[in-house]
Amino acid sequence: FPVTIEMYIKDDMVVQFNYTLRDEKGEVIETNEGREPIAYLHGHDNMMPGVENAINGKAVGEKFTVTLPCTETYGQRIEGEAAQQRVSVKHLLGASVWKPGMTAVVHTDHGQRQVTIVKVGKFMATVDVNHPLAGRDLTFDIEVVGARDATDEEIAHGHAHGVGGHHH
Ligand code: ZN
Repeated sequence: FPVTIEMYIKDDMVVQFNYTLRDEKGEVIETNEGREPIAYLHGHDNMMPGVENAINGKAVGEKFTVTLPCTETYGQRIEGEAAQQRVSVKHLLGASVWKPGMTAVVHTDHGQRQVTIVKVGKFMATVDVNHPLAGRDLTFDIEVVGARDATDEEIAHGHAHGVGGHHH
């Protein structure tokens, strides 16, 4: 008689999952379908808090849908001038020619951030620091496809190694 031991997601596990992200109307915004599952070290702030909380305690093989408020994903929208910052054009990553409305990536003290170009001159650009999905309620279809205990090294580094994780 085969015995199946279910694995439930908890801190210090490397979790693999597939996801589809939908907006308020059910339109797909983003999915990893057809690609490698996402891998991350659970319990170390490597994933947006709402998604990590939703996966916590789920069994490997479980599929579920969760709708998260913006405060648990990309944050609330900052309105007006408070959202605008001037940055050097050479710090904008993702294209060589910039026009208003384009999305750029900038490096900040808190990691990479997506911003939207408002105005652009020869050397300086004004960007809107809101993530394009800030202020939105987002729905995630998530399938937990794998989990294993993290190694001591992964826990010390605070991230997953191997397939889908860091290589170094
Ligand atoms: Zn490492």
